[in-house]
Amino acid sequence: MLYRQRVLDLPHGELQTPVLFPVRNLGKRSSDNTPEYVGTIPDLPTAMINARAIRNRDPMWNRLTNGVSLREEMDVPEHTIVYADSGGYDFSQTEPDTTPRETLETQRLFDADIFGTVDIPLSRENRAAENQRRIEQSIELALEASDHHDGDELLLASVHGYDPKTLRNSIQYLESRGDFDGYALGSLVPVRSDYEKVTKLVLAARTATDKHLHVYGLGGLVYQPLLLYLGVDSFDSSAFIRSAGNRNYLLPGFGGEELWNIDDLEYLPCPCPVCGSRTLDDIRDDRDALVRHNLWALAAELRRFRYVAAAGKDIENYLDLRFQGNEVTQRAYRIAKQQVRRLA
Ligand SMILES: [Zn+2]
Repeated sequence: MLYRQRVLDLPHGELQTPVLFPVRNLGKRSSDNTPEYVGTIPDLPTAMINARAIRNRDPMWNRLTNGVSLREEMDVPEHTIVYADSGGYDFSQTEPDTTPRETLETQRLFDADIFGTVDIPLSRENRAAENQRRIEQSIELALEASDHHDGDELLLASVHGYDPKTLRNSIQYLESRGDFDGYALGSLVPVRSDYEKVTKLVLAARTATDKHLHVYGLGGLVYQPLLLYLGVDSFDSSAFIRSAGNRNYLLPGFGGEELWNIDDLEYLPCPCPVCGSRTLDDIRDDRDALVRHNLWALAAELRRFRYVAAAGKDIENYLDLRFQGNEVTQRAYRIAKQQVRRLA
């Protein structure tokens, strides 16, 4: 079994993994759209932020360089565990406009607990040679970060690759040349609908290192249980915000539901603190409430998995049930199961 639980000792406190890092829009135009959840959802004292987006937002950047702390700026408690990625996703089309040293300085100014290295994502549209160049450039940028890093923060090297061998080689190369606390797998969002491919890539990374493994961008309701099953330690997601924007109500076991066409259901099917006593009409028009509920749905998914493991129940049986309602995800899980069993 690859599922695993650990405790990370980080500058702002201990963190139990596996864990979700909700993506904060801080620094992006829709910055004030992430509602308060740290403290409200006690097992998610976590936030994923984009270091580059914040640096490029002048008013915010000025406040931060003039002594306002990032956590004050975010209006979250001091114990919030912050993962600051480099904003590499913004370099999908362009060359990076930052250096590993500058990114580290920014991440340090934020008092982040986890640092992501500068990276340049792959694209399915790119020629193979271009993607290969990007893979190598990300490796060089990670090694440069390793040279400049000597703090208590976790440094995770961002790695990319569209085949298992490339990923394994990249991680082993970085492991022998650099000093990293773990690895973060990127470029999976563009291939997210190819579950077989994603499963193979995650497994390749998982089996190449015993260190912390993060997966960028795939922490939604469908992927979460798969990633947990594959032994991933952390993941991030903006699915709770994006879904709310599309007026989708996330429901564990069902994915995103369009509840709005239902007329004869008075109360919502979720007992979370947002939905508990609300009627369907209440939440229909309250985007903020919908975002908060969606985040609770992701947290509940994680809690259920933890329960199944803690109670000593058969995780594969649980996932058989969990995925039986949807043909696509059922096939994805079946592929994952075959591959995990082959490892045994
Ligand atoms: Zn709810």
